[in-house]
Amino acid sequence: MSTELTLADGLVGIIDYTLKNAEGEVLDTSEGRGPMPYLHGASNIIPGLEAALVGKKQGDHVEVTIAPADAYGEHNGQEPVQVKRNELPANVDWQPGMPLQAEVEEGQMVMLWITKTEGAWVWLTQNHPLAGVELHFIVDVVRVREALDVEVTHGHPHGVDGTEGHDH
Ligand code: ZN
Repeated sequence: MSTELTLADGLVGIIDYTLKNAEGEVLDTSEGRGPMPYLHGASNIIPGLEAALVGKKQGDHVEVTIAPADAYGEHNGQEPVQVKRNELPANVDWQPGMPLQAEVEEGQMVMLWITKTEGAWVWLTQNHPLAGVELHFIVDVVRVREALDVEVTHGHPHGVDGTEGHDH
C-alpha cells in the first residue's frame, strides 16, 4: 500500500540526500545521520527541492539543480555588519554560521547569520550562508507515508515513524 503513495501536500517524505555546490563539494548529507523525514507542503525543505519531489514515490532517485531563488535566496551583495557581542542575547556561545532573529522595526523580525567572531565583536549578515549558491541535490526517496493529524497541525513530522519527540 504505502509504496503506492506519491509525494504531495500532507504526506511525509523520508529521504536520503546529499547536497553539493556547483564545484561538487559536499555541503550537507543525511549519510551517517539516517534518512530525513519532512512534511510535504509545509515549507520544511527549500521550495526547489520540494517541487522536484512532487509525485515521487518510495525507491525513486532524484538529482536536481536548484537556483538560489528557489533555495536560500540571492546574495544581497552587502558586507557583514560589525556589532558588539554584548548587543546580542547573552548566554549563547555565538559562533560563525549561527542564526539569530533580530527585531528591525515595528516588531518586524529578520533572520541574521553570524559570519565571524573576534574578541568583543561579531559580524552579522542578512544573507543565509547558502545565499547565492546553486545547489545540487542527490536524493533517494526511502519511504512515503501518510502524516498524522498532529504532524499536520504542527507543520512537521515527528520522526521517521511519527512516534518521535513530542515535547512541543
Ligand atoms: Zn510537533
